[in-house]
Amino acid sequence: MFGKIHEVYSSISGEGISQGIPTVFIRFAGCSLRCGKTETRALWCDTAYALGPNQGEEKTLESVWNDLEKLDPHHGYQVLLTGGEPLEGKNRDLSTALAKQIYEHRMNVGRPYPASRVETNGSERITEDSFFIFTMDYKLPGSGMEDRMDQENFRILEKRHNSLDEIKFVVRDRIDFDRSIEVIREQKIQTNILYSPVHGEVDAKELVEWIKVDNPPKCRLSLQIHKVLWGNQKGV
Ligand code: SF4
Repeated sequence: MFGKIHEVYSSISGEGISQGIPTVFIRFAGCSLRCGKTETRALWCDTAYALGPNQGEEKTLESVWNDLEKLDPHHGYQVLLTGGEPLEGKNRDLSTALAKQIYEHRMNVGRPYPASRVETNGSERITEDSFFIFTMDYKLPGSGMEDRMDQENFRILEKRHNSLDEIKFVVRDRIDFDRSIEVIREQKIQTNILYSPVHGEVDAKELVEWIKVDNPPKCRLSLQIHKVLWGNQKGV
């Protein structure tokens, strides 16, 4: 078994309810979505360097486990499986085996963060497995990718009933924000909700004003702290 890995590094978690926690990032390569790209507008993906089928290096479970142990020998950091898309194609098998092994090891030796957080794009089917915590995107109209969303994922999040799961809405404009409110109501979402503005397209302060008016349940603004600290650098 192998997956395509772009990079493994340690830093702090940049966003969401785990923001600021020391974290090992396992970045998978390859993603079949192309968020934000239209005839007139550019791709907004932060990790465009990790999208193509030829990106990354094929790695086995053992090899990624070794990388993890070098960066975090005492298993004290959160583990974040990100991308690209960690649940797409062969990456899914490696993500599953890795998260299961981390979970069993940390439960046995009594370490924090036994479950691995997965940042997934909403087009791949999530699972009820307790060795995963999900940060699941729901792509809004401005991304051009809403028709790729797997609506069944909302039912799975409901069944998981995990207080650490979160749904992320990346907002390009007011149309996107209004659509997010519609989705929250239609799907009766009870999970934590994150709102992030598309950089350079909507002012975060304006997004705050919209959030204050509608005040969806369990929602928060989520800005990427690593960009504040290091700008657009990779591997931090
Ligand atoms: S789903 Fe994520 S990785 Fe894929 S194109 Fe969109 S932003 Fe980039």
